[in-house]
Amino acid sequence: MNCVFCRIIKKEIPSKIVYEDDLVLAFEDIAPQAPVHILVIPKKHYSTVLEMKEEEKELIGHIFMVINKIAREKGFDERGFRVVVNCNPEAGQTVYHVHFHLLAGRQMHWPPG
Ligand code: AMP
Repeated sequence: MNCVFCRIIKKEIPSKIVYEDDLVLAFEDIAPQAPVHILVIPKKHYSTVLEMKEEEKELIGHIFMVINKIAREKGFDERGFRVVVNCNPEAGQTVYHVHFHLLAGRQMHWPPG
């Protein structure tokens, strides 16, 4: 499968890894949109969040625990951070391997673009 994030998981493409365990990888976004911009991805391939069903509830919960851990470690628990998941074209999804954007380090605005 020619998925860029699967290749990052297999270490075929370099990335700046922030956290890794059996289920999840977190690495720095190559085109950061904030001073901190980390992608947290499941190691199992899902094209979009719509593919994540009932049996993925625990994995999704785990991903959020990893996001919390990274945000705390980087000192953004008090200041704040944003988590974004884009699903399909109108949301701006460009990589079809589920990823959670963790953005922090600047004032965020609402509504998002
Ligand atoms: P999305 O638009 O939600 O699909 O986000 C895809 C994200 O993946 C973008 O923020 C890209 O900058 C990022 N990205 C694409 N290729 C790489 C890569 N090789 N390493 C790190 N981040 C990447």
